[in-house]
Amino acid sequence: VTADADLLVAGGGPVGLAVAIHARLRGLTVLLAEPREGPIDKACGEGLMPGALAELALLGAEPPGWALHGVSYLDGRRRADHLFGGSPGRGVRRTTLSAALIARAESLGVVRIPARVEGIRQDGESVVAAGVSARYLVGADGLHSTVRRLAGLERSRGRGRRYGLRRHFRVAPWSHLIEVHWSAGLEAYVTPVADDTVGVALLGRQGTGFDEAIAELPALADRLADAPPASALRGAGPFAQRTSRRVAGRVLLAGDASGYVDAITGEGLRVGWAQARALAECLADDDPGRYERRWREGTRSFRLLTGGLVVLASSPLRRTIVPLAGALPGVYGGIVERLAR
Ligand SMILES: Cc1cc2nc3c(=O)[nH]c(=O)nc-3n(C[C@H](O)[C@H](O)[C@H](O)COP(=O)(O)OP(=O)(O)OC[C@H]3O[C@@H](n4cnc5c(N)ncnc54)[C@H](O)[C@@H]3O)c2cc1C
Repeated sequence: VTADADLLVAGGGPVGLAVAIHARLRGLTVLLAEPREGPIDKACGEGLMPGALAELALLGAEPPGWALHGVSYLDGRRRADHLFGGSPGRGVRRTTLSAALIARAESLGVVRIPARVEGIRQDGESVVAAGVSARYLVGADGLHSTVRRLAGLERSRGRGRRYGLRRHFRVAPWSHLIEVHWSAGLEAYVTPVADDTVGVALLGRQGTGFDEAIAELPALADRLADAPPASALRGAGPFAQRTSRRVAGRVLLAGDASGYVDAITGEGLRVGWAQARALAECLADDDPGRYERRWREGTRSFRLLTGGLVVLASSPLRRTIVPLAGALPGVYGGIVERLAR
């Protein structure tokens, strides 16, 4: 019995689309199950670090946005700026990114199935899901992945209980740096995405009120005082999602579905797109088992540095983060560069 396609991707977010594009570029036939009509919006900081932009170029997509030249940490009294040593990053609205990746995937012949994956059956030859069969199934269905659960790859939740909220404002950007405003209990990521739109993503504990949180950050509240909201409030979380493995027979995981730490370092897309590229290479070679090692290598710094920063940010030492970044620019810059590449 021949399968309907080489690959079925569950999830048409940025990582699922990247898996589909890389697989097509390697000659595999690809179906993509995504219940939502594109372009798709999602709570995200929308900062593409320089390394993420390099991955995007490999995908052949070029969405417009706002050039980002570095990162600034602020706590009301101090600020610590780091300018990227190499090429800039870009703030890109999620719907703009989604539209560009969907167009690229369609131009390469990826076929979308308007469905959710709700059950999986696999044998030695193929996987059946969403009413079709394929030689492999990739779960790229986000933080609360159904594929991860159905394939038995879920591990107990991480200890962290951090969540994110985002909203856009109609205002001209005042900086080419991603601003991270630190208060006692949360971080506000301010990322311009167009010459009249700035996105604000809040990271912190559940139950944080968006307006109350902004009011606790006077420097940011001043900037937004006369700016009308330009998008609906959206949330996501909890961030910490763990997996026991990334491969179960013919089922593989990529992106947030494969395990997530936190948005504190803004590198979900870079990490997810690198996974997508590795995954397509392994499947084109019919060697799904190799992906497990590639996944571990590709996520090591994300797991260690991001995990470490979350522990620090959740401890009494939190208040020392911005002063230390200012006092030790070499260390701060080194960490930002490591995360940015
Ligand atoms: C507040 C916040 C701020 C962030 N800031 C940044 C940042 O500045 N920079 C950065 O790089 N990253 C950032 N991230 C992380 C980034 O948003 C994610 O890493 C990225 O969206 C992961 O993409 P994905 O394709 O894996 O998942 P998603 O974008 O979540 O896409 C999953 C898709 O799967 C679909 N789906 C769900 N269930 C099923 C199913 N059963 N069958 C089929 N389809 C299904 C959904 O409809 C969705 O379209 C942030 C995240 C948050 C929450």
